[in-house]
Amino acid sequence: MHELYIAECILKSVADSLPPGMNPQAVEEVRVQLGKLDAVVPDTLTFLFDAIKTNGGMPNARLALSEIEVVCRCENCENEFGIEVPVFLCPSCGSGNVKVLRGRGITLTGIQVKDENGEDDGNSGNS
Ligand SMILES: [Zn+2]
Repeated sequence: MHELYIAECILKSVADSLPPGMNPQAVEEVRVQLGKLDAVVPDTLTFLFDAIKTNGGMPNARLALSEIEVVCRCENCENEFGIEVPVFLCPSCGSGNVKVLRGRGITLTGIQVKDENGEDDGNSGNS
């Protein structure tokens, strides 16, 4: 089960991409694209993300996943085709000389943060 590792990586990537000084608690939505080739179970990833997001400093973050189909291109005849299982044969000419164009990797595609003006966490100054 590599979903826990992925959830940790997502939280870390989000933290790294926030502007300096921004409170991670302001993160409301994290958009991630999952390549089907990575065989990540979306429900498991969401569950684990929710389980560790508070420790990651982002209790308000919601994971928004989208899956991307695996698309390959045959280097022989340039046919492009989608696959459901990792069998890399071109259905057009039978060549095994194919290249994966899409469907691999986990990509952080967007972060939505709460409007600064709507902040209402009752933070009282204690100087
Ligand atoms: Zn082909």
